Amino acid sequence: MNKYTIKVFLIFLVTVLFSFSANNEGKDYTGFSDANAAVQKKWEAGYDSLLQAPDIDNMVKILSAHPHHLGSVGDKNNVEFILQKYREWGFDARIDTFYALFPTPKTRLLEAVSPIKYKAALQEPSLKEDHTSSQTSEQLPTYNCYSADGDVTADLIYANQGLPQDYEELDKMGISVKGKIVIVRYGGSWRGIKPRLAQEHGALGCIIYSDPKDDGFYQGDTYPKGSFKSEYGVQRGSVEDITLYPGDPLTPGYGDTKNAKRLDRKDAKNLLKIPVLPIGWHDAKPLLEALAGPVVPDNWKGALPITYHIGAGPLKVHLKLEFNWNIVPVYDVIAVLKGSEDPDEWVLRGNHQDAWVNGANDPISGQAAMLEEAKAMGELAKRGIRPKRTIMYCSWDGEEEGLLGSTEWAETNAVELQKKAVAYINSDDNGRGFFYAGSSQTLQTLINEVAGDVTDPETGISILERRRASDITNASSATEQKELLSQPYIKSEPLGSGSDFSSFLQHLGIASMNLGFGGEDPDGGYHSIYDSYDMYERFKDPHSTYGVALAKTAGRMTMRLANADILPFNFKDMYTSVNDYVKELQKKMDEMRTSTEVTNELLNNNYYIYSQDPTKTYIPPVPKDSVPFIDFSPLQNAMIGFEGAAEVYNRVIASNHNTAPSSVEQLNMLLYQSEQKLLLPEGLPKRPWYKHAIYAPGYYTGYGVKTLPGIREAIEGRRWQEAQQQIAEAAKAINSYTEQINSAMSLLVLHK
Ligand SMILES: [Zn+2]
Repeated sequence: MNKYTIKVFLIFLVTVLFSFSANNEGKDYTGFSDANAAVQKKWEAGYDSLLQAPDIDNMVKILSAHPHHLGSVGDKNNVEFILQKYREWGFDARIDTFYALFPTPKTRLLEAVSPIKYKAALQEPSLKEDHTSSQTSEQLPTYNCYSADGDVTADLIYANQGLPQDYEELDKMGISVKGKIVIVRYGGSWRGIKPRLAQEHGALGCIIYSDPKDDGFYQGDTYPKGSFKSEYGVQRGSVEDITLYPGDPLTPGYGDTKNAKRLDRKDAKNLLKIPVLPIGWHDAKPLLEALAGPVVPDNWKGALPITYHIGAGPLKVHLKLEFNWNIVPVYDVIAVLKGSEDPDEWVLRGNHQDAWVNGANDPISGQAAMLEEAKAMGELAKRGIRPKRTIMYCSWDGEEEGLLGSTEWAETNAVELQKKAVAYINSDDNGRGFFYAGSSQTLQTLINEVAGDVTDPETGISILERRRASDITNASSATEQKELLSQPYIKSEPLGSGSDFSSFLQHLGIASMNLGFGGEDPDGGYHSIYDSYDMYERFKDPHSTYGVALAKTAGRMTMRLANADILPFNFKDMYTSVNDYVKELQKKMDEMRTSTEVTNELLNNNYYIYSQDPTKTYIPPVPKDSVPFIDFSPLQNAMIGFEGAAEVYNRVIASNHNTAPSSVEQLNMLLYQSEQKLLLPEGLPKRPWYKHAIYAPGYYTGYGVKTLPGIREAIEGRRWQEAQQQIAEAAKAINSYTEQINSAMSLLVLHK
């Protein structure tokens, strides 16, 4: 036994002795003594009674009344309005201002030059059924933010969704996009991956269109009859490469305050070098129709009434884009409700308020719910019911361009946040349907406890049970259904990117969660002028009943974190998830080994050639180096220590249910700073901004998460040495995390 094992063993003995006295009452309020759980319960009932659906609805209407993108008059007006509201409700509120690079279009031209002529409209028409759609002079035109300037004319080529597997398919057909303009459809991954891959493959420009198969008439009635995308609807959106780093491209890793040193635009690694433009299918159809060359594979076909060809050509298109590369103010509204006992422990709650256009759904549905929470929390404080810890509401700006407001704020306040921030609770767009949660898995127990206490407005059961019902009925096999039936909780999903939690979790190591409802609110309005109050009221969340559900849910998370005696982090949940990820990676290695062997054998026997139509061009895959065995033991050993500490900690906590530890402040600080121990000092290979050893957005998936990202992406990229190094790094982080859990535990045990 080494020193560490002896310690765990001793603690284990102590635990066994005391665990018989474990009290299960108040078990739905982990971290609360029985007396405080009773107080908390009353507080939450009082809180619920203050939440009003008509107020949320009205707030959605007010904040989406005009376009309010970053740097606009509408944005500034909303910011001032929100500031005033927070102050009215009794908060100490302020605006923290940053200055970020924000390009807006000066020239947008897309035309077919030969053999046909066509000039793309690039315009979303206003509709009489949608009142704000006619605010043309205030709207940002349709574009992809952080596209490069460019003026290119070339053959057009269709590359499906523009993802790695699509380029592999093109390779097999012997087709290259080099020197061409690529047209791809939305879907399959975060949009920014598409132009980056086009650029990596030598394309001169990229066009991203919305195919009706994904969110248009193929799915259901289009707007304004239904809510799916019409032929003119366009998805705006940022193409800043957030997989390298989010925030202002010119200030990686530090705040873009007024006098901050800024990179030259050409040196910003997360900016594209080629022009990219989004279009609706009305503009895409004539272009796709004019392509020749091979017919596309089946899974590349959209729902347009045409035969989809790859090209390249004979159609030549001309794409010209020019932008005003301005620096604009980014206004974060920060509202503070000071804690009565531990003012230097901060529970952060955030949602962005900026939109691409009117943004009734994205993000105002979430912002309005959060403001309703703040209103109720302020009212309770006026009645003398204040949180123990400080609660901070953050209405972020510039989220749409690349999480600008939250990233710059987090980078600027990094030192203080790592000292004081207990957790970060995020939401974004919200709609009718099922509860969903992503988080650091240490918060999974809290999420389940809260979800069990909130009632679903449509069915009357808890949002937890409704979500479980959906997971179980939609599971892929009876075996999986049986397994889900036997577990009375929901798993909180690991977080990638795509909203404001990213900096807190992945850069600073602050345990974070992302909450919302959806699934019954088909979304064809996303990032278009039709994401309006009219669409929200008819299709997204009529009467804001799910706005109330979100306020109840996120409000409870905030309050329980603000009032718990001992913070309700569950390290065993974290262990269980990470252990699954480790096993997944080992399995992945085995699968890659087999697939490499098979591929090479098929190549040796010419089976790839014989299986094809000999009259067509076909290039078989290249042989691959065999997959070695790499050593997972440092990680496996770290996991053994982690499991022991996590289990013992839970038992000690249960046995100490109604007693205070020797220093509760010191204990809580160890708990909420524990996630920081999972940060890699050097960050991930080639993207050091991302420091979390367990969660990162995938380099080739964007918003989609990669767990144990350093190891996983090295394996996927067949960089075996790097994978081995990353195993060592992750093991180190997990060992230091385990030590922190043990330090927290020793405070509890010593007291006993
Ligand atoms: Zn959003």
